Amino acid sequence: MSGASGPVRNWAGNITYRAAEVSRPRSAAAVRDVVVSADRVRVLGSGHSFNTAADPGPGGVLLCLDGLAPVLDIDTAARTVRVGGGVRYAELARAVHAHGLALPNLASLPHISVAGSVATGTHGSGAGNGPLSDAVREVELLTADGTAVTIGRGDPRFGGAVTALGALGVVTALTLDLEPAFEVEQWVFTGLPPTGLDVGAALTAAYSVSLFTDWRAPGFRQLWVKRRTDQPVPEVPWGTPATRAVHPVPGMPAGHCTEQGGVPGPWHERLPHFRAESAPSSGDELQSEYLLAREHAPAALAALDALRAVLAPVTLTCEVRAVAGDGQWLSPSHGRDSVAVHFTWVADTAAVLPVVRRVEAALDGFGARPHWGKVFAMPGAVVRERYPRLGDFRELRRALDPRGTFTNAFVSDCLGLGGAE
Ligand SMILES: Cc1cc2nc3c(=O)[nH]c(=O)nc-3n(C[C@H](O)[C@H](O)[C@H](O)COP(=O)(O)OP(=O)(O)OC[C@H]3O[C@@H](n4cnc5c(N)ncnc54)[C@H](O)[C@@H]3O)c2cc1C
Repeated sequence: MSGASGPVRNWAGNITYRAAEVSRPRSAAAVRDVVVSADRVRVLGSGHSFNTAADPGPGGVLLCLDGLAPVLDIDTAARTVRVGGGVRYAELARAVHAHGLALPNLASLPHISVAGSVATGTHGSGAGNGPLSDAVREVELLTADGTAVTIGRGDPRFGGAVTALGALGVVTALTLDLEPAFEVEQWVFTGLPPTGLDVGAALTAAYSVSLFTDWRAPGFRQLWVKRRTDQPVPEVPWGTPATRAVHPVPGMPAGHCTEQGGVPGPWHERLPHFRAESAPSSGDELQSEYLLAREHAPAALAALDALRAVLAPVTLTCEVRAVAGDGQWLSPSHGRDSVAVHFTWVADTAAVLPVVRRVEAALDGFGARPHWGKVFAMPGAVVRERYPRLGDFRELRRALDPRGTFTNAFVSDCLGLGGAE
């Protein structure tokens, strides 16, 4: 995220937030003052989304929580952590690990904020791992009239409260479930067969698995296997272990990646692909991702393979992961065990958008849902059809934010929310 003085842009630099005011309060009382006096507010997390999800629009306030003292209250007996609305996973992971505890999973990078990540349905990989929001047991919201609302698991509103795209209020804190710390070893396999790889078997071979292609040749270039050392050693008959560290984006320095070669290490230094202290991914890029029911993976990948000539010129890398279905109404993996097909594109919106449309056309028959934090072109009406619990979410939003203070053009279009209801 850039723009300490001047306009604020997202991490990728493709979005400039059109806020009338950028507010960095230094206390909870000051956050409340901003919220109750503004007509339109959107909270910015760490700004790693590639679209206008966080943009309040002209006249709105962009609220940044990074001026607040970080809240990280760990309860070792209950195995929970209460984390403030501006805290990032890197900081959270180090703190809970120091107490012998762990989160079940992480995304490819730990640089992102917890509240911003669970708001968009951010996920890592693993057939048995739901999105990161699965760890959330309680959400604390500050609503537009300054009321604090706490919604925990078991509350009928909970299904709409975590992956809410910032449309209900400011997430001031989240309480997450933890488990005992564990170790992971990470292997990268190359020399994969150009055809015939059983994607379903590969994605279920270990705790967290990723397949990478750049679409320049048939099949996948890399298979990343992250095994918990307390789980059996998987059979990986599809390639050979890489003899040196590799980066998923060709040409990028492998030193930015978490340790490979099967060296066991703490969960938070193996589950993400990128080290907390290094730049993630290529840095000069756009991203898109689509989640679809896992049984469609072979047909969907075949449909994309038919587009290789279109995809290859704008693809830096493409990653295929598994995500277990979850109960958040707006989660892209809601209600179905999913396969997630991610694209890291060149940083050229004009060249990428037509290709995004081709990808969406190819995946249309599979009911693909776009990642809320990445680039997509799908009309809001189509997105809305893919969320069977959207009506419940709209009702919840009407109850918690009747004036639409937290509604911007992005959520209005994607979720069909009017300003004031
Ligand atoms: C290099 C890179 C790698 C990535 N890898 C993955 C990956 O492995 N898996 C994956 O699923 N995604 C991945 N992403 C996407 C990323 O996880 C999402 O875009 C995520 O939302 C980023 O979190 P953030 O804090 O930067 O959110 P932001 O972009 O800042 O905000 C996202 C949304 O959350 C809302 N929000 C943020 N904080 C609050 C709050 N406190 N209260 C209310 N609303 C709030 C914002 O208003 C906005 O609507 C990656 C992105 C990058 C740049």
